[in-house]
Amino acid sequence: MAINVRRAVVQNTIWSRRLNWYGYQAQIETHIHAVTQNPPQFVQAVAQWQRNHQPGMDVDGIIGPNTWSVLRQEIGVASGTVQGAATVAVSAGSVSSGIGSIAGASISGESCSLSVRGHSVNFYCYINCSRFREKVQQLETFFSRVPDQHLSVLYPIFIMENKPGRGKGGGTWTHDLVQSQLTGTAQVRNTGIPAADIEHLVIRPGKGMIGIPAANWNVSIAELKFTVFHEVGHCIDFSFPPGGLVPSGARNADFEGMESEVRRCGSSDPLIRKAVEVYARHICSPYRIFYNQPPSETSAQANRRLLSTLRRSSAFSSVPSS
Ligand SMILES: [Zn+2]
Repeated sequence: MAINVRRAVVQNTIWSRRLNWYGYQAQIETHIHAVTQNPPQFVQAVAQWQRNHQPGMDVDGIIGPNTWSVLRQEIGVASGTVQGAATVAVSAGSVSSGIGSIAGASISGESCSLSVRGHSVNFYCYINCSRFREKVQQLETFFSRVPDQHLSVLYPIFIMENKPGRGKGGGTWTHDLVQSQLTGTAQVRNTGIPAADIEHLVIRPGKGMIGIPAANWNVSIAELKFTVFHEVGHCIDFSFPPGGLVPSGARNADFEGMESEVRRCGSSDPLIRKAVEVYARHICSPYRIFYNQPPSETSAQANRRLLSTLRRSSAFSSVPSS
């Protein structure tokens, strides 16, 4: 099978930064017998190395997430050696972070977790973002408003290049959907997350996952928080069957004021879309949960009604009212 050398050269430039393998170029060249600084020759050498690792590896000459997850181990770039960082002990209300080392296994993303009242909120970054930790830290205030019962079921949050289908906005996948929707070759290429990392961080621990694409992550925290907590809302909705965030018998009138659905949402059920937005806004904008204030209510009344709708849902049945 012929490989597209020109495309591979471009892709290698991108992935070398994204996956931080440009720092290991010399070791890589020695290992795969690429003898010159000649990018097309480098691509051919990568392709030959990939052929030697068949089956189970694409032969495209690109050191993308899957290829790098194997190659880095062969050249000895293992856990904890990338930029010399390792995971740090977690204490209350703090951010701990690390690169490449999670519970003894090696991943290619950067990790960072918030500890909120003893619950870990785990973030994994697979894009090149210099402000990753800073942004996670800025989200802490909002995560501290999430009830314990919800923090304890929260899916890990992945910052990815694109969603698997390259759609807009964030995404949330239950455990049952992760394998089929995030680990295929095309999906890995879109997200930038190696299948091995998904296996290790999501599938094996029996979790689901939240994904925030780079385009949605690289905005101000004022905007980002609504995307993050919309997806957190989906996670909570999935995690408390039967009704999730929608109380049994709920009607559109219970969600009056949430009609303007500015946010793109994959759910086909309008009540779920509204309930998820009430959830996001009660965390991010508690004094103005509604989009449109109903004429018959004061803003305080509208907020109270929306909050009481949310509190009748199964997701809140074990959450004490404060
Ligand atoms: Zn949605």
